[in-house]
Formats: sequence, C-alpha cells, structure tokens
Amino acid sequence: MSVKFIKETDFNDFVGKMMEARTVVGPVAKKTKFVFGELESVDQLRLDYDVTILPPKKLFFPPRQDLLKFHGQKGTSCICPQPKVLFGVHYYDIKAIDQTDFLFNENNADQNYLANREATTIIGTTIQNVSPRAFFGSVGKNVNPKGHDGFLTRINGGWVFETLTSKGRDLLDFGKFIDADDAQKAEAAKVNTEEKTKSPEKIKAEGDVVAQKVRKSFSEDELWEEFAKDCFSCGSCNIVCPTCYCFDVQDNWNVDQHSGARTRSWDGCLKADFAECSLGQGACENFRETKGSRFRHRIMRKAVYSNEKLGGPACVGCGRCSLSCTADIADPVNVINRIVEG
Ligand code: SF4
Ligand code: SF4
Repeated sequence: MSVKFIKETDFNDFVGKMMEARTVVGPVAKKTKFVFGELESVDQLRLDYDVTILPPKKLFFPPRQDLLKFHGQKGTSCICPQPKVLFGVHYYDIKAIDQTDFLFNENNADQNYLANREATTIIGTTIQNVSPRAFFGSVGKNVNPKGHDGFLTRINGGWVFETLTSKGRDLLDFGKFIDADDAQKAEAAKVNTEEKTKSPEKIKAEGDVVAQKVRKSFSEDELWEEFAKDCFSCGSCNIVCPTCYCFDVQDNWNVDQHSGARTRSWDGCLKADFAECSLGQGACENFRETKGSRFRHRIMRKAVYSNEKLGGPACVGCGRCSLSCTADIADPVNVINRIVEG
C-alpha cells in the first residue's frame, strides 16, 4: 500500500495518459443525470456526480449477457473479459460490489461474473455531491469497503491517492505522483470520515435492531399490502439496485432451429411473474402473488435475510430505488423507520 499526492493541475494529464493505455469507465453526464460510461475524453469525467442511474455492477454482470452460443450439441462459452479501469466509484457502491463478489463466488461460482471482475481495476473516490435520497451513513456502519484497488480523495490543491493492490499501484506510472505528507493524509482521512455524515436520509436504528423488528413484522399482511398498494410491479427498484443480483436465463434459437444463444437478463422480485413456477400441463403457481408479498420480500432481503452471511444489511443506502420509483414508495428508509418506530 502507498499513499501518494497529485496536484490538481496534473490530474487531467494523469487521466489522459491512463486513457491512452487502458479502457477507462467512469461517471459521465447523461442529460441531467449520470451514468458509468467509457471515457472518450478527459472532459467527460464527472467526479462531482451524486449517484449514477445504474450501479457499476453492470460492468461485471451486464443487464443482458450471452452465456454461451450453441450449435446442435456443441456449446461455446461467451466469456471474454475486457480489461478496464472502473474509475470514480463511491464507497457505498464498492460495498455493494463486495457483496456481489461474495455471492457470485459462493457455491457454484459464476465464472462469467468473476472473469469480468478479475479483469477490472476499481478506483474509488470521495463523494463530492450527495444524492437527495441517499442514506449510506446509516446502514452497515461497521462494514468497510474492501474490493477496490485504490482510492482517490479530493483535498485542497489536489488528490490523495491510496493504492491498495498491485493493480492500483500500476496506475501511478501515468501521473506525476509524489509521496503524500502527514497533513495531506490527515486531510484525506477527515474528508472521508465527514462524507459518511452527509447523507440526507437516515434509518433510525442499528442493523441488528432493524433486522429483528422487520422480521417480526413478516406476518402483518395488511401492513405490507398498505406499503405496496400503489406499486406498479415495474421492478425498477430492483433493476437500479447495486446489491440485487437476480437474473433470468433463456435459450434463444436462430431460424435454423439448430443453433442459438443462452442469454441471461436482470430480473426483479417486484415483478408480478417473478415467483411464478410451472406445474406442467399449462398450470402454474405464483408463490408471491400479491403486491404486498413481493414488496415484503424485497425489504426482507435488504434488511434481514442475508445479514449474517454478508456481515451487514444487503442495502448500502445509495437511494437509487427511491429516485427510480414512480409511486415513491420504494424508499427503505420510510418502510423501515415506520416498522422500527412501530
Ligand atoms: S416499489 Fe416502485 S419501483 Fe418498485 S416495483 Fe413498485 S412501483 Fe416499481
Ligand atoms: S435497496 Fe435501494 S438504497 Fe438500498 S442498495 Fe438497493 S437501491 Fe440502494
């Protein structure tokens, strides 16, 4: 590990040199919002973004991805990772990536995800502007991000760059870095401590109390139906979530009826048919038939079910679900605080 400093006036030159040598994906403006996109020029990079529409997991686990091509009985893997630098990731999104790293490595490890993940260098950065619905300061407070290769903190006159792995250290070659002095390191630590206090929304209890109370509310069907009464079952709250990882797999056949591709696409437990199972002979069963049961499942997944194995809640407080919900009912803060305050 090393802690370096680069002057503000040398920063764009560093990014430009890195872009000449590597594919760099970072936050860029899309109309009034932000997305992670491949940089074509240094000017596009917007490290002052608040939150991106979709989380950076799309780089390792794309919304739609061919898993294999088949021709008769023969299948060919589509795993083809492209090395890249994922630049400018906020700490709550790194925590979400840590969760998907764990989950896609569990049991039958997902080689498609892992190959893309391995080929990516992740550089985190300070949150300069905060999303209006974020609550990252009040969830998983004891869980620190760990899957990144380096972290850039903006301080007076430049940036402190902490490298954590050899992939992160390799990037030092592209810029005029010098060793950070004690004052610069202290300023960076202060900036990163303070940013955690800046999220505007707040869950009013610690994770274990939340887990206990939310689990206890499971059988309150009327409450869950009330929470979900305006739900359109669109699944947007799932799709934008950095910790959701459900997908559907389909075989799509070419017109020759002999070849095709096995493709996976993101899916979401709020969609009406998510839990629909075939019983054969045209019959089916939907084991989460009501809006309330689907809404409850999502909140249980985020606040209760996975806490033990993930070491904290499966929600990192990014606020994307709140921003994306047309009915404005998806915000975990409103749901959890109402349950907690009982
Ligand atoms: S809670 Fe909101 S975003 Fe989620 S499915 Fe319902 S309407 Fe869509
Ligand atoms: S549940 Fe909402 S706030 Fe929590 S991680 Fe998912 S999108 Fe972000």
